[in-house]
Amino acid sequence: MRPVPTAPAGAPAPFDVERIRREFPILGQQVRGKPLVYLDNAATAQKPERVIDAEARFYREINANVHRGVHLLSERATQAYEDVREKVRRFLNAPSAKEVIFTRGTTESLNLVAQTFGRQRVGEGDEILVTEMEHHSNIVPWQMLAQERKARLVVAPVDDAGVLRLDELERRLGPRTRILAVTHVSNALGTVNPIARICELARARGVPVVVDGAQGVPHRPVDVRALGCDFYAFSAHKLYGPTGVGVLWGKREHLEAMPPWQGGGDMILSVTFEKTTFNELPYKLEAGTPNIAGVVAMGAAIDWLASIDLAGALAHEHDLLAYGTELLSRIPGIRLVGTAPEKEGVLSFLLGDVHPHDIGTVLDREGVAIRTGHHCAQPLMIRYAIPATARASLAIYNRRSELEALAAGLEKVRRMFA
Ligand code: PLP
Repeated sequence: MRPVPTAPAGAPAPFDVERIRREFPILGQQVRGKPLVYLDNAATAQKPERVIDAEARFYREINANVHRGVHLLSERATQAYEDVREKVRRFLNAPSAKEVIFTRGTTESLNLVAQTFGRQRVGEGDEILVTEMEHHSNIVPWQMLAQERKARLVVAPVDDAGVLRLDELERRLGPRTRILAVTHVSNALGTVNPIARICELARARGVPVVVDGAQGVPHRPVDVRALGCDFYAFSAHKLYGPTGVGVLWGKREHLEAMPPWQGGGDMILSVTFEKTTFNELPYKLEAGTPNIAGVVAMGAAIDWLASIDLAGALAHEHDLLAYGTELLSRIPGIRLVGTAPEKEGVLSFLLGDVHPHDIGTVLDREGVAIRTGHHCAQPLMIRYAIPATARASLAIYNRRSELEALAAGLEKVRRMFA
């Protein structure tokens, strides 16, 4: 008998989608009498048991406020919370855990940068450069800042396939550009932007780069040093973690120079009615009681990702993307929106003249959950002269058979609206 191959001690078992699925309790359920096919992962990913347990265990066994107590539970809560800072540092390969700021998510992280760093840097007549494929979270905070400062929002275009025009971006990096804000991966198109190259172009002109990593971290390992960016923002809930918590990573020199954002507890060293002195990093930027249980559960999500064969999982996801693209391309009347050569886990499409909401409603009756609408990227929809798309988005627990269910559902839509 041949010996069963065993993984070397400490190495994760080779990726097996069925085994991974069993760790996600929600995936086993039926919706509308059909097995759930969850293809709305770009909106939020499902959570493995380990993450759900970590949050519940925190409340059952540790719950106390952080940083303030001398009692044992407070010490434990503080330890659990601060341990995650180091986990995130490792996860992003950041130089220091002091550069890791816990926030409510990507949106809050980007607003934080705009309202502190942005306010310091941007003045009248200056320019803030964004791209046409940004999520509203990486447009509106900059637009608000531009209005406040009498500055200008400048936009780098994408081509018909959904690839960022680097030549046009470079042309727009001018003497008045003070900040470049760009997404790592587009939530509406799946396009992966060449962040390292973009940072090189910006650095050559002294322009700091803020990266929206909401759709980056779930699909590829991120190394902020290798990328060369100045800030990187992400949300835990798209990374198999809980909602209501996320991260802003920033270069220490920027964070040190930034004023505090919100005032309140924890971000101060001393307060009198005459004067307040502020705490050091990272606490200076974390006012008030944070989402402690959420941070702890985010740490569990990062641990969970480290415990699986992530390379195998991401290869599986790429296989799904290629398979899904092929299946959809075979359906008459399908138009894929976003066909960049470098893509992650997103299949945005239109089907003839059928409104995306109708597509979504018919698919829902088949148990297939997708998203329809503008995906918080209305300027991108305007670019393609469409009101909305239907979007199936992938996670490592999806199966090929789920994409077949999507394709079968779309055939139904086609017949219904023919
Ligand atoms: N940026 C991108 C690219 C996103 O996909 C999203 C969420 O869909 C966000 C930002 C905002 O993330 P959150 O709502 O978690 O703050």
